[in-house]
Amino acid sequence: MTKKEKDLIYSGDADTPLRVLLTTDEKDSLFLRQKSLDIKKVKDNEALQLLVQRMRVTLELENGVGLAAPQVGIGRNLFLFVRIDKPEYPVEVVVNPKITAHSEDMFCFDDDGCLSVPDASGTSLRYKWIEVEYLNEQGETIKEHLQGGSRFENFIGVIFQHEYDHLQGTLFTDKLCVNEE
Ligand SMILES: [Zn+2]
Repeated sequence: MTKKEKDLIYSGDADTPLRVLLTTDEKDSLFLRQKSLDIKKVKDNEALQLLVQRMRVTLELENGVGLAAPQVGIGRNLFLFVRIDKPEYPVEVVVNPKITAHSEDMFCFDDDGCLSVPDASGTSLRYKWIEVEYLNEQGETIKEHLQGGSRFENFIGVIFQHEYDHLQGTLFTDKLCVNEE
């Protein structure tokens, strides 16, 4: 982590939420368009632990299903997502993710939305399933197959795609389905 990143992370304690960047602010909007960098040290990284804790508090406060580090001003490959596919919906941490495979077919996911894009929702074009590889909070490698063919079933795969996109500087508004009605 850079000094600038550490200053932001240590600007509050573990219970203090971080400011969520918004596309309605010009400076924020430019930052949200940058590509994030990998995190080199996951184990015993105190700054990372504090960042994750503050992101948890922020996600809870904002009532979201996912939050990516660039949304709080940290350009690193990290996000939190709510495991709607697991009992009690735990919040899990994803570091340096890769999408290693995906369905050929895509579908239009209804009512995508984003904490960084105020007052907007839209139908985004998503893969029906993805295979992913990432590090968890303990630095262990996780490989998973994540589903998500519609909003009305388990759409954990869509949450992952949305958060993963943030790390590439992509927003759901870039992926809107063109509905021909
Ligand atoms: Zn988002």
